[in-house]
Amino acid sequence: PPEPTVPAGPAGPVEPAEPAADLMVRAEQVHKSFGRLEVLKGIDLEVRPGEVMCVVGPSGSGKSTFLRCINHLEKIDSGRLWVNGHLVGYRESGGKLYELRDREVAAQRREIGMVFQRFNLFPHMTALENIMEAPIRVKRLPKAGVRDRALALLARVGLDDKAQSYPAQLSGGQQQRVAIARALAMEPALMLFDEPTSALDPELVGDVLEAMKQLALDGMTMIVVTHEMGFAREVGDSLVFMDEGAVVEKGTPREVLADPKHQRTRDFLSKVL
Ligand code: ADP
Ligand code: MG
Repeated sequence: PPEPTVPAGPAGPVEPAEPAADLMVRAEQVHKSFGRLEVLKGIDLEVRPGEVMCVVGPSGSGKSTFLRCINHLEKIDSGRLWVNGHLVGYRESGGKLYELRDREVAAQRREIGMVFQRFNLFPHMTALENIMEAPIRVKRLPKAGVRDRALALLARVGLDDKAQSYPAQLSGGQQQRVAIARALAMEPALMLFDEPTSALDPELVGDVLEAMKQLALDGMTMIVVTHEMGFAREVGDSLVFMDEGAVVEKGTPREVLADPKHQRTRDFLSKVL
């Protein structure tokens, strides 16, 4: 068997631990540095199944890095991170932790859908083909069924008439809704959104937020980095304020927005509200 590998860092080596059975995401003292820049300084957060957690905070506070750690795009230096019952990047065996092989990491990642600020659709594929691509290539599912499901997903994001359009023929908001449908095609247990409306013209934001709201109403577990405080207030179950690599405040959107406990939160909210 391979040697057990454990991430070491400021918080020390990782011990195997009981899985976070009833949580979709559990972060425990997650640390991440880029060189000498400590970007995540011990994040503790929990997301329940079906919860919509909105994350706000100034630029550079580590929001994207945290999402990227959840989605295996960055490796944490220390702490522990579970997604959907799995310790991210590791497998426990005989009381020891083993680093996952690429194939196993890919399997974990398939449980997570992510939508970025910039729509990254394949430009040479239609909206429908973009949505069908991963289920066919990765899951090797039969084409006819994938196509039916992709059409249903397009309808779900309000784009049933755009199946044959190429990304360049779609508005930014329509492209972003195709990106959401594409992520959903893999039937993720968790959806991550990293400022999905920040790059859009203001008049296109509403349709994307509406698609996200519908997804939330359907019970999807979501972590949404956004500055859309109206969305956070209406759709969010929880609101997290991050600053300088730390969770400064977490509560219901009502609590955090109406009665922020920290001056840093108040200062930030006064700028975005
Ligand atoms: P946010 O999403 O809250 O704006 P980020 O997580 O993108 O913040 O970035 C947090 C900090 O980490 C910033 O100072 C950023 O420049 C830095 N950073 C992010 N990714 C990298 C990287 N790959 N290499 C070096 N520094 C990075
Ligand atoms: Mg960011």
